[in-house]
Amino acid sequence: MIMHSHIERILWNEDEISNRVSELAALITADFPTSSPPPVLVGVATGALIFLADLVRKINLPIAVDVIRAESYGSGTVSNGAPSVSVGLKVDIKGRHVILVEDIVDTGHTMSRVIADLESKGASSISVCTFLDKPARRKVNFKPVGEGKIYRGFESPDYFVVGYGLDYAEIYRNLPYIGVLKPEHYM
Ligand code: 5GP
Ligand code: MG
Ligand code: MG
Repeated sequence: MIMHSHIERILWNEDEISNRVSELAALITADFPTSSPPPVLVGVATGALIFLADLVRKINLPIAVDVIRAESYGSGTVSNGAPSVSVGLKVDIKGRHVILVEDIVDTGHTMSRVIADLESKGASSISVCTFLDKPARRKVNFKPVGEGKIYRGFESPDYFVVGYGLDYAEIYRNLPYIGVLKPEHYM
């Protein structure tokens, strides 16, 4: 109650999220049937961790799972356009099919930066699986690499959304749904 009362509106509830994640996992399962070595799912921390955890458990293939960290918002709600990316991969992605897992693509700065970093490490293809996409705010276009594909969960209206991994000032990531904060809860 304490935290849910901060939410003005729910955009996607737990069931809707779960169903859509199953569909994305089925698409990925169908697209990488015989990859050897197995594809590497790389989540962009912190926002994508919850989506990553749900998604990987629904993919019916041998896969590797790793994370990198990217930060662009600090504690605000507007991208500063210069994401800092620290690629701290444990898995060697040289010659591997990589599926980047993101919470949301907004301006596109983070995705294009992360894709360039992973491409330089020799991935043989890079796909992007983003839970949310806000195309209205795109500033930079990003392209998958090689035979990589783009998977999208939902197209988000142009609100600052929280929950299911997405934060405001590091809070609200643990909401099980995607929602919009009441204005009085922005600092
Ligand atoms: P971009 O670099 O595409 O502008 O932003 C990407 C990152 O900004 C996302 O991975 C996410 O962490 C954050 N972001 C973008 N839009 C939203 C939003 O509506 N809500 C939250 N909580 N984070 C967002
Ligand atoms: Mg993110
Ligand atoms: Mg954030």
